[in-house]
Amino acid sequence: MSEQSQQPQAFDLVVIGAGPGGYAAAIRASQRGLTVALVEKQGADQLGGTCLNVGCIPTKFLLDRAKTWYHLQTISSRGFTAKGLAYDWGHILKDKNRLIERQRQGLRYLMKTYNITVIQGHGSFHPTQQLTAPGYTIAITKSAADEPAQATPTLITAPAVIIATGSTIKPLPVVTGSPAAMIYTSDEILNIPAIPEHLAIIGGGVIGVEFASLFAMMGAKVSLIETQDRLLTEFDQECVTELSRGWRKFKIKPTIHTATILDKLTPRTSSSSQDTLHLHSKRDGSTTIKVDATLVAVGRTPATAQLGLQHLGIKVDSGGAIPVDEFGQTCATGVYAIGDVRPGPALAHTASAEAHLAVDHLTSPSSPPRPINYDNNPGAVYSYPELAAVGSTAAQLDQLKIPYNTATVPFSIMAKATIEGYPEGFVKIHTHQHTTEILGVHIVGGRATELISEFVLAKCLESTSAELAHAIRPHPTLTEIISEVAHQGLNEPVHAPPTPRRKQARD
Ligand code: FAD
Repeated sequence: MSEQSQQPQAFDLVVIGAGPGGYAAAIRASQRGLTVALVEKQGADQLGGTCLNVGCIPTKFLLDRAKTWYHLQTISSRGFTAKGLAYDWGHILKDKNRLIERQRQGLRYLMKTYNITVIQGHGSFHPTQQLTAPGYTIAITKSAADEPAQATPTLITAPAVIIATGSTIKPLPVVTGSPAAMIYTSDEILNIPAIPEHLAIIGGGVIGVEFASLFAMMGAKVSLIETQDRLLTEFDQECVTELSRGWRKFKIKPTIHTATILDKLTPRTSSSSQDTLHLHSKRDGSTTIKVDATLVAVGRTPATAQLGLQHLGIKVDSGGAIPVDEFGQTCATGVYAIGDVRPGPALAHTASAEAHLAVDHLTSPSSPPRPINYDNNPGAVYSYPELAAVGSTAAQLDQLKIPYNTATVPFSIMAKATIEGYPEGFVKIHTHQHTTEILGVHIVGGRATELISEFVLAKCLESTSAELAHAIRPHPTLTEIISEVAHQGLNEPVHAPPTPRRKQARD
């Protein structure tokens, strides 16, 4: 419907962006009886946002295949002989794309089932905006460059809007303008035609570490470059050290350059087939490395460009994110921001949880929902071995002067971990020194990203070590380590040797 034609179509809710935040919000709102328009610039064929198309799903697919390849190559250690092993990277990429398409189809089906109107285009607040609900006007143009005031946008209205536009890749100025060099973003590398011999990864956060595991397991030499003093700064230090040890043990260890910046990139020339990275390390001074490809993974920025936020008086914070209250509502009544576009963890499950909270708040004004407790929001790294955590680290508890005890149980004592070939790593749990309530859990090991969920539930229920220990778990499973660590927390270990208590009493 064009601006010149009759009345703009009216909905109860407009959601801008169809990632795990946006589509979850649209479905929830439809279940609550609202009429919903879902505006997605990639179109109805490409729902799912970053997570499905270029994030969680394709990376985990490729990581799974890389793990399989790695295990096949080390299969003789398990008593098998296999000759002539090879992989077909093209086949793997096709399977990955097929999975994405199948999931997209599923989302299209859900939109239809819930009667959600999906509109292709760039959504933004129209300049003629009223500053209060009801009646926000959203302009939909073909692309962000078509300014609503100049082009002829489609207009739709609603008393409520959920901004779920996610984030975009942060560029690294030092590598831009080098067209001859082989530089990839995290989007592009998902379709790299072949495994490079030597891959440099700039950025030792979650995305960088996952890609380092993936390409190292596929046989590439990987150099991981991080400006901070260590990788994965938001995760427990001991877990990260154990991850590095695991990498070394499995002989998939990337060369790690921490406290190092990329000074300059010299692209390949007709006489050299590699790019040169000029690195400067705080500890070791300057050095150069020659690489076949470079992945830039230095973070993401909230996607707020050309959203017309100024028409509502919404100002982004210093990180470019949209400030919100505890329910996700912005300073404009009825306008919410969820997922990567607002401050807080940039994770798919967080975006979906924020979607549900925003819709519940919108539809139940008289009985507001319980805000999200971000302390119960898990983080996960799908490296090999995996990392997962929920709640506070020791450093955070120290800072808050909360008295706590720590119990740690290694996977090596669990028969199932050895059976499955993941005897590395440990589970570490911090509990309140007086109440034994669970305050933080940090896992590094084979199936850390699955095991964390039971701790998440326990933490949501404010469970104690005794309650965690009371539950009976099947034998033999990896989950038994939860019983072990709970008993350890009570100083009554079953199989684990008693560890000296790392007491941090600070009453
Ligand atoms: P997005 O998923 O980014 O979706 C936003 C949507 O809005 C997009 O489809 C975009 O096209 C659309 N859009 C933007 N602006 C407009 C506009 N103006 N008009 C219309 N449409 C618009 N998280 C995890 O929890 N687990 C993981 O394993 C994980 N792995 C990741 C791996 C990689 C390589 C990356 C990059 C990210 C990963 N993430 C992971 C993060 C996760 O993908 C994001 O946190 C999640 O997708 C955020 O969801 P969202 O709905 O906020 O935004």
